[in-house]
Amino acid sequence: MHFTGTVWRPPYEAWSALLQVTAGCTHNKCKFCTLYNDVPKFQISPMSEIDEDLREIYTIAPDVTRLFLTGANPFVLSTEKLKNIATTAKQYLQRLNSIGCFARITDITPKSVNELKTLRAIGYNRITIGVETGDNSALEFMRKGYVSDDIIEQCQKLDTANIEYNFFYLTGVSGFGNGSSGAEKTAEIFNRLNPKIVGASMLTVYHDSDLYREILVGKWQEESETEKLLEMRMLIERLEIRTHFAALGASNMFKLHGELPCEKENLIHEIDNILSSYSEESLRNYRVNLKHL
Ligand code: SF4
Repeated sequence: MHFTGTVWRPPYEAWSALLQVTAGCTHNKCKFCTLYNDVPKFQISPMSEIDEDLREIYTIAPDVTRLFLTGANPFVLSTEKLKNIATTAKQYLQRLNSIGCFARITDITPKSVNELKTLRAIGYNRITIGVETGDNSALEFMRKGYVSDDIIEQCQKLDTANIEYNFFYLTGVSGFGNGSSGAEKTAEIFNRLNPKIVGASMLTVYHDSDLYREILVGKWQEESETEKLLEMRMLIERLEIRTHFAALGASNMFKLHGELPCEKENLIHEIDNILSSYSEESLRNYRVNLKHL
């Protein structure tokens, strides 16, 4: 199998076969992000390489039903290229019924609803979008490259095309003193959409990030760990849609998950228990010792 750099996938894609079709990120500008520092330039895999890897997947696991395309945003590929990948994959994997990947909001922009419907018809579904927040000042400061209106507009296109999507939320992205208001703004946006899963990661600032340099020159201040937990609590409290909330990645000291709205009270209760049982110092200790996400 061809894999370039560190391979990232959401926790819920653990049972999907991984296929590299891109490496790195087309955007590569978000201040907090160090995920693809080992792949500084975005790469698209040639079809010959994809074909070779599909053959290998077929040899090991011919009954695979779901593929997860790796790279920060394979959904940026043209509709033609994505169709080509799906068609080739189905030639090898007869039982394949869906294909997922990470996507940026800006990857959806150039695709028409008809193109998205075509992609849905050939298997693209349950894509994961790292929207991070609906707080426009945080989106702008972190150089995400879109605003909250774009999140709504592009995800409504996915809804029309019947492509299901999951969101990643980045707890702490609004910065010191703004956690709860950032969560409120985000809930307002998410409540207008239909993410199947809202996955929350917690901001961990690494020294090789642009965000760390902003902190050093006094342009940004990190939220305390307690504020991050209160922010997550606010997000859960304000979400009114039916979705699965999951904070399961390594960045979360405590793993939480549950159905919203029916398990909302349980989730809030769990966060309140953490807040009353752990000091800021012990929570911070986890953060500073987290060597890798
Ligand atoms: S957060 Fe996502 S979009 Fe931003 S640089 Fe990292 S991988 Fe790319």
